[in-house]
Amino acid sequence: MSQIDSLPPLREVIAQHQLSAKKTLGQNFLLDLNLTAKIARQAGALQDCDVIEIGPGPGGLTRGLLAEGARRVIAVEKDERCLQALSEIERAYPNRLTVLNGDALTLNPFEHTQNPTKIVANLPYNIGTELLIRWLNPSSWPPAWSSLTLMFQKEVAQRIVAQPGGKAYGRLSILAQLKCEAKIVMSLPREAFTPPPKVESAVIHISALPRPKFAVDEKRLEIIVAKAFNQRRKMLRASLKGLTSDLETKLQAAGVAPTERAENVTIEQFCKLSLTV
Ligand code: SAM
Repeated sequence: MSQIDSLPPLREVIAQHQLSAKKTLGQNFLLDLNLTAKIARQAGALQDCDVIEIGPGPGGLTRGLLAEGARRVIAVEKDERCLQALSEIERAYPNRLTVLNGDALTLNPFEHTQNPTKIVANLPYNIGTELLIRWLNPSSWPPAWSSLTLMFQKEVAQRIVAQPGGKAYGRLSILAQLKCEAKIVMSLPREAFTPPPKVESAVIHISALPRPKFAVDEKRLEIIVAKAFNQRRKMLRASLKGLTSDLETKLQAAGVAPTERAENVTIEQFCKLSLTV
């Protein structure tokens, strides 16, 4: 196995700093530095980019990002036990790593970044979806990031890229695909992690488009999509009842049969509905 840097192997780092994995912090570590470098490469060229990493842990992906040439990495880690190991990486890559010790749900790493900024992370599974929804829903668009390269449980990754016509298609697919291109770029078996999680994982790459793909009233879209998928087994004429007068006429004008169910409605059709319903 080729070396990606001059720092010690991650197993040694973990033993030296006694970083036994904590379940409550979603700690499933990647210890193969060739794998973390490969994940870093999924984010595209990093040389002229700042990278935000959530949850560096012992620093496997951090080292991958730095070895692949990231201009700077701003890493947010909640677990104080990891700070010593991360400061050793800071010393090996002078002026290129900033570690913020705190909760990614409350800290704002964008205060420390310069454009262009990419987000790359092996996310703690318990806050992954919440962070993604926040990144996809900033106060203005385009967002402060140009792309997201994120490890999720495979089932969540499949929901993000899902197309109409199946159970995986829903609010997350629409949120992710209206203003972004999203694709699964890697699948990882459970054994790639220490300790292995209960389910398989996948890396998803999401790149921000300059504007939504279709004309849309985003506030209204949120309401319609929430109502439609909260009762996804019902026909739209029932699940959207009470939202507007002439519901059936407006559904038909958007090319949607009133007897259709949410999971068969395309993003373009939902956007059309947002302008009338
Ligand atoms: N990046 C490392 C790797 O790939 O081996 C660790 C990934 S592990 C799945 C998730 C990391 O997120 C852990 O280091 C954990 O301590 C950290 N973490 C958990 N909750 C956090 C939070 N709210 N804010 C910041 N970091 C958090």
